[in-house]
Amino acid sequence: MGNLAGKVAVVTGGGSGIGTASARRLAQEGARVVVADIDGESAARVAAGLPGEAEAVAADVSTEDGVESYIRAAVDRFGRIDLHHLNAGVLGTMAPLPDVDPADFDHVIAVNLRGPFLGLRAAFRRYREQASGGAVVLTASISSLRGADDQLPYQTSKHGVLGLVHGAAMYGAPRGVRVNAVAPGLIPTGIFAPDRAATLGQRGGTIPMRRLGTVDEIAGVVAFLLGDDSSYVTGEVVSADGGAFIVNTVVRSG
Ligand code: ADP
Repeated sequence: MGNLAGKVAVVTGGGSGIGTASARRLAQEGARVVVADIDGESAARVAAGLPGEAEAVAADVSTEDGVESYIRAAVDRFGRIDLHHLNAGVLGTMAPLPDVDPADFDHVIAVNLRGPFLGLRAAFRRYREQASGGAVVLTASISSLRGADDQLPYQTSKHGVLGLVHGAAMYGAPRGVRVNAVAPGLIPTGIFAPDRAATLGQRGGTIPMRRLGTVDEIAGVVAFLLGDDSSYVTGEVVSADGGAFIVNTVVRSG
């Protein structure tokens, strides 16, 4: 059995992209996995394809009821929850600052920031009830750490995720709960609209490693942060971005 044998893990946004790769990897490492997604059909398809026992839940992470429903589903099926990957997210509409729609801003904040806040709150309530420790990983982004001129709502939400990580890690540290984040760079997933996805390949050439990342390369970091190999790591944000974060100048060709 793998590193996570006997553990129960929840992955939000598990119906697609990074969340699906994470669910797969955690299951391969022996965890029983609950796949939660606002798209219940995708969640069900992913859960059905996992090795080992898995459960799917249709849940909107931006609402208390949605979070409650995936917590309840996990506890009803598996009796406990040890690991959480709070990953569900949206990119929102790309627009320059004067044109950002306040309704779009609110939606992105609701899913990307209120969602993991509610998820952490529920996770910690659960740990208290179980009288157990555990581990939580949030999906941050290179947009948690860097600026861009066309994604203010997303960037603001992902900067906020770091606040959640730091606060929750402080609270969790003496209670046996570790809280960390993975900060993916450019990973081609469904979060990009088709028109934008087409230009992603070109942008890959500006990354120090000269390529986009894969969802499996993010899932590997998630598995590390949720497993015992990272037992002394908390409050940390691990970039997985091909070196994009360290760039402070225009990358020369060649
Ligand atoms: P990435 O993997 O890069 O984050 P995707 O768009 O492929 O991008 O995956 C994000 C996932 O989050 C999707 O499966 C989507 O359905 C899910 N999601 C989006 N909004 C919510 C929400 N409010 N509640 C739960 N899941 C959500």
